[in-house]
Amino acid sequence: MLQPPPAEPGMREDEVDTPALILDLDVFEANLDHMAGLAAAAGVRLRPHAKTHKSPVIAHLQLARGAVGQCVQKVAEAEILAWGGVPDILVSNEVVSPRKLARLAALSRLAQVAVCADHPDGVAAIEAAAEAAGIRLTVLVEIDVGTGRCGVAPGPEAVALAERIAASRHLIFGGLQAYHGRAQHQRSAGERAASIAAAGEAAGRVVQALRGRGLDCPIVSGAGTGTFALEAASGVFNELQAGSYIFMDADYGRNDPAPPFRQALFVLATVMSARSGAAVVDAGHKAVAVDSGMPLVWGRGDVRYEGASDEHGRLAVGPEAGALKLGERIRLVPGHCDPTVDRYDWYVGIRAGRVECLWPVAARGAMA
Ligand code: PLP
Ligand code: MN
Repeated sequence: MLQPPPAEPGMREDEVDTPALILDLDVFEANLDHMAGLAAAAGVRLRPHAKTHKSPVIAHLQLARGAVGQCVQKVAEAEILAWGGVPDILVSNEVVSPRKLARLAALSRLAQVAVCADHPDGVAAIEAAAEAAGIRLTVLVEIDVGTGRCGVAPGPEAVALAERIAASRHLIFGGLQAYHGRAQHQRSAGERAASIAAAGEAAGRVVQALRGRGLDCPIVSGAGTGTFALEAASGVFNELQAGSYIFMDADYGRNDPAPPFRQALFVLATVMSARSGAAVVDAGHKAVAVDSGMPLVWGRGDVRYEGASDEHGRLAVGPEAGALKLGERIRLVPGHCDPTVDRYDWYVGIRAGRVECLWPVAARGAMA
């Protein structure tokens, strides 16, 4: 059930009901601008990933700054974006069920949509859906450039799959999906550089092999917030699909160096119990994702978020912080932004201490 918004425009931040997902709008806009500028300077297209924000509002802010479209992982996310007026959407993922593919084919009447495949049977399923809908669907071949998730090996199998797509009357060969997920959170710059050098080399070999057979790759897409500058400089990738840069999170903050963006997204929590050296806030597992580590407590160096249960977050409070008081508000920096956003119905946009906007997390839970 959609929850009522936890705030109204004009309220002060300390009047927002908690737990709430709050967005520092000045920092968020600076992050959007910075990435748009970096992509433009590098001469690559930016197609940010909507798995982070799940919001047509934010997609349009990215498009207004020059993004060519959006990436999504799920057909349900593609639907929310297309119905919200986003004109160009890449499902950077495999979709194999006929029902989902029929939905995707129907959507292609509203927006330019593309989808990935890593197996001839997947291509056949997409082809059947396109034929039944009487349209042509664009398909990218996903190659595994080192993550070991989806994707064909970047060799003859990938070339054969591309030729299979290009030969179909119902499909258009769109290029290569070459995202290296594992590299994003490799902590050292050297490890990340080595991973993306190898990914670029692998993708480049496939591009060359296809060119040798008369096939162009209009899109060679990859990159996340941890490595985008490397893909941008590779000379092989022509689209970046980073997502988390708009918000940042504690886990990206642990990369060395951290990506060049600032923390814009927080979970606002209230102290609901306090004693000497410890406190409890009203934000546990249901309010903040801990798959990439515990949240950090913003601006309170001596307070540590030690552990979560469903509805509670346990804080250790050091001597410098003094006692936290009942009802006191703290901002938490989520360990991982994307799954944290998925726990909320609303973004509460804050500027100069006041609520400016309430944006629905429209594709919350859009996992089908
Ligand atoms: N592309 C794909 C296929 C992804 O799975 C992800 C995130 O997991 C991204 C892009 C965006 O990465 P990030 O949000 O870390 O920038
Ligand atoms: Mn993520």
